[in-house]
Amino acid sequence: MKCRVCRGPAVIDIPRHNANFCAEHFLAHCREQVRKAISQFAMLAPGDRVLVAVSGGKDSLALWDVLVDLGYDAEGVYLGLGIGEYSDESGAFARAFAATRGLKLREIDLREEYGFDVPGAARAMRRVPCSACGTSKRHLFDAAALDGGFDAVATGHNLDDEAAVLFGNVLHWDTAYLGRQLPVLPARPGFPKKVKPLVRLAERETAAWCVLRGIDYQVEECPMAAGNSHLGYKEALNGIESSSPGTKAHFYFAFLDRIAPLFDQREVRDGLGACRECGAPTTGEVCAFCRIVERATRVQVSTGTPRPGRDR
Ligand code: SF4
Ligand code: ZN
Repeated sequence: MKCRVCRGPAVIDIPRHNANFCAEHFLAHCREQVRKAISQFAMLAPGDRVLVAVSGGKDSLALWDVLVDLGYDAEGVYLGLGIGEYSDESGAFARAFAATRGLKLREIDLREEYGFDVPGAARAMRRVPCSACGTSKRHLFDAAALDGGFDAVATGHNLDDEAAVLFGNVLHWDTAYLGRQLPVLPARPGFPKKVKPLVRLAERETAAWCVLRGIDYQVEECPMAAGNSHLGYKEALNGIESSSPGTKAHFYFAFLDRIAPLFDQREVRDGLGACRECGAPTTGEVCAFCRIVERATRVQVSTGTPRPGRDR
């Protein structure tokens, strides 16, 4: 197996590009894919201040690393979800990466600052944990980016993630989500710009990036993900991809090219008011995050657990 660029010994094959790369040219290939995604979808401008949502896993740490490598002023933000050992470990990986690179990591802790954790919120809301978790992440990362004056929030969603979400949304013909499944969402009143610079890289490639760059990341998956339909969609697409390399990328990028423009973005989020509690944009009186805070902490009060003070 030889590197496509230098003909030296290759360390990785990428069947969808029909290419093998040595370490140096694989890293160059990844940088180029991220640079291309950023320019193709007008995600960032040179010198932008970017807030990277960091989980301690391979995708978010690779994203942070590559953005800094490409010259962006990128800070990290880590949200403590309170999911037992998994959260303790993920925070340690995020902090260690930031410390070794001399990067600034902002930290928010759901329990300390809002009085609940993801498993408790799931029980209180009678919903799957990923629902409360996703709402909390979106709300708090948006708020952190707006408060900190960042130009964009960047998340580590890779090609496998985006193709699997698209697959699920198509299976359910969930047009509301399909209309918003874009690699960049522009800033609007109350919302920062949101970008996904890793959409041209598969998760095997972000893992390889971390290994070759000496980044320690959390390998263990979140225990709350077990039985999650997203994992089933990923597996199904992986089966198709292994017999037909390139199918996943075609599925996702042809959607962006041919289908996404059919949705009228003005309709996607019009008519939002301000949350009575926190001022964030919402369709109701109280935003989804403040509803979680209210319900999750009320359940704790009724079961005798002290309710910490809230700062927002
Ligand atoms: Fe949150 Fe679900 Fe991801 Fe776990 S799997 S981090 S609960 S969204
Ligand atoms: Zn609110």
